[in-house]
Amino acid sequence: MNYYSSQISSLIEELSRLPGIGPKSAQRLAFHIINMPKDQVEKLSATIMEAKNKVCYCRNCWTLTDHELCPICASEKRDHSTIMVVENSRDLAAYEKTGKFDGVYHVLHGAISPMLGIGPGDIKLKELMERLQGDVKELILATNSSLEGETTAMYITKLVKPTGIKVSKIASGVPVGGDLEYIDEVTLLRALEGRVEL
Ligand code: ZN
Repeated sequence: MNYYSSQISSLIEELSRLPGIGPKSAQRLAFHIINMPKDQVEKLSATIMEAKNKVCYCRNCWTLTDHELCPICASEKRDHSTIMVVENSRDLAAYEKTGKFDGVYHVLHGAISPMLGIGPGDIKLKELMERLQGDVKELILATNSSLEGETTAMYITKLVKPTGIKVSKIASGVPVGGDLEYIDEVTLLRALEGRVEL
């Protein structure tokens, strides 16, 4: 039975496709949007479209950005010979918030997971290996401490070790299975400073 107008129903349906939004939250958001002033709704939808149209991947580190090169890769103040490998742009943001890392990043966009059928070819690994052809001194692995994150770190270590580039891994202390973005800055900083060479 359809309780709502078909327009509201389709709005609820679209919103419930978003991650973390269940049917109840989708309903709440839909009614909130309907009750918002029209100019605010216009601004929201325009901002979504603009972000979708303009946001792209940095051609160097693959984080999300508005330009060909992200501000970190474009900066001369950063140490381009130290690359921290993270699973996604949210983890990059978590490390940037500490303000203590002056190297650059590489965003994998996922982690190897045989269970989910995600192999090395499905994340930005080939792109990482290409970057290592340049002047790189250290690779810091900051993948999550989940099974997938650990598998990915091990895989990268095996690939990179023979090149002679120093490979280190952020210290444990980052809770197992914990997404980096939810960990406080002090813990992240300790994990970075206490990194161990592999
Ligand atoms: Zn970049």
